[in-house]
Amino acid sequence: VHYEEYLDTMKGHANTAIDYVSDKISYFGGGSSDIAPSYTWEPNFYDEETIERLLTTLNTPLFPEGDVNKTSSSNVFKENLKLYRDTMSQEIDEPQVEGLVRSDESSYNAGNAVPATILSLVMNKDLNELVDSIKQLEEKFNSKFNYPYTFLNDEDFTEEFKETIRQFLPKEREVRFGKIDAEDWDIPETVDKEKYKHGVELLDSEGVSYAKKESYHNMCRFYSRTFYKHPLLKDIKYAWRLEPGVKFYCDIDYDVFKFMEDHNKVYGFVLNLYDSPQSVKTLWRDTIEFLKESPEYINEQGAFDWIKENMQKSVNFNITEGYSTCHFWTNFEITNLDFLRAEPYEKYMDYLESKGGFYYERWGDAPVRSLALGLFADKSQIHWFRDIGYSHSPYTNCPNSQKCDNKCTPGYFTPWDNLEIENCQANWMKYSMTDEQLNLY
Ligand code: GDP
Ligand code: MN
Repeated sequence: VHYEEYLDTMKGHANTAIDYVSDKISYFGGGSSDIAPSYTWEPNFYDEETIERLLTTLNTPLFPEGDVNKTSSSNVFKENLKLYRDTMSQEIDEPQVEGLVRSDESSYNAGNAVPATILSLVMNKDLNELVDSIKQLEEKFNSKFNYPYTFLNDEDFTEEFKETIRQFLPKEREVRFGKIDAEDWDIPETVDKEKYKHGVELLDSEGVSYAKKESYHNMCRFYSRTFYKHPLLKDIKYAWRLEPGVKFYCDIDYDVFKFMEDHNKVYGFVLNLYDSPQSVKTLWRDTIEFLKESPEYINEQGAFDWIKENMQKSVNFNITEGYSTCHFWTNFEITNLDFLRAEPYEKYMDYLESKGGFYYERWGDAPVRSLALGLFADKSQIHWFRDIGYSHSPYTNCPNSQKCDNKCTPGYFTPWDNLEIENCQANWMKYSMTDEQLNLY
C-alpha cells in the first residue's frame, strides 16, 4: 500500500461517506427511501502499522504449515465434531435476552414491525417445492408475524404460479412478484466467452457441480451483487431468504427481524460449511488484492481466524491459496440489506465483477457474501440462529428444543458420514463466538 494514496482516499471518504449512502439509496430504487439505514459504514482511519498488521494476519494461515499433517488434521476434525455434537445436544429454548418481541402483544405491528420481507428467487417449475417451504415457514413463524413475501424471477411468473401462492396464503399476507431485468441477470458482455468456456470445462472435469450451467452462474452473481437493488426491495432493510424444498422444524415465537434490529445484527445464519475449493480458486487472491488497495474497509473485529483456518480441510486452504472456504450457507440467510448497500460491500462486488470469477470460475454467492462479512463486519454482529431447525439437503441444523417437532434428530448434521467433515460450525464457535454468545441460548 502506498500510504500517501491511502491518506488521500481517506480524506475523500471523510467527505463523501454520508453522500454516498444517500446517493446509493436513490440509485437503487429510483427515489430516496424515507427510512434511515439500519447499517452505516464509517471509514476506518488506520495508521500504516495497523494496515501492515491486518494484511499480515490475512496472509498468515491460522496454524503454522509445519503443524498441519494427516494426524493433526484428523485429530482436530474429531475434536470439532465432538464440540459440535456436545453443543447441539444441550437443551436450548429461545435467546436468553430481555425484550424478545412477540406477536400477541397489543402494540405489535404485524407485517410491519420491521421493514422486512421473506425473499425467494425462484422459477415457475419450483412451485410445488416452494409451497412446501412456505407452508412450513408459515406454520413455524410467519402466520404469527405476517411478514410480506417477495418473489423474483428472471422470467415472468405464470398466472398459475401467482394464483397458487396467493390462494395458499391468508388474504392479509402481502405478496409481491418481481421480474429481474435481463441486464441484471444475463452473462455480461465483458466476459470473455472463450475464457469462460475453458474455465467451465476445467471445473466440470474437476467435478464442480453446476459448472456448465450458465443459469447457475447467473444466479450466484445475482444473489451476490444485484438482488438487493431490486425496486421491490427499495424500502426493505432485512430479507429472510427462502428456497424451495427446505424444511423448518421448530416454532419461532419471537420476531427474528426485530431481534436482528434490536441486537444490531448484520447477518443471521444456521449452517456453516466448507465449499468446493475449485469453484473459488482465485477468489481469495483477488480479495487480498482488493484489500491492499482499500484497507480502510477491513474491520479489525472481522472473523479472520475462521477465514484462515487451515486444519480440518487443509486441502481447501491450499487450493484457494489462503481461504478455509468456510462460508454461511446462504440458502437460509437473514441479511441486513444496508450492510450490502454500504460502500465496502459495493466496492468489493465491483472489484469481483471486474475479475470475472462468477463465470471463469463458479464463485458462489455464499463464499462471496461470507468473505465480505468476515472482513467488513464485526463478527459479533453475525448471529447463529441455533434455535431455527432447518434443513436443505444434505445438511441440517437441528437443535435440542421443546419447540421442535421431532422430525429432525438433535445434532444430526447430515445422513452421509463422509460429509461430516464439511461442517465448519465448530470453527465458527471456537474462533468467532464469545462465551456470552455461546451461552445466549
Ligand atoms: P443449490 O441449492 O445450490 O443446489 O441451488 P438451487 O438450484 O436451489 O438454486 C438456488 C435458488 O435459486 C433456488 O431458490 C432456485 O429456485 C433459484 N434459481 C436457480 N436457478 C435459477 C434460474 O435460472 N432462474 C430463477 N428464477 N431462479 C433460479
Ligand atoms: Mn437449493
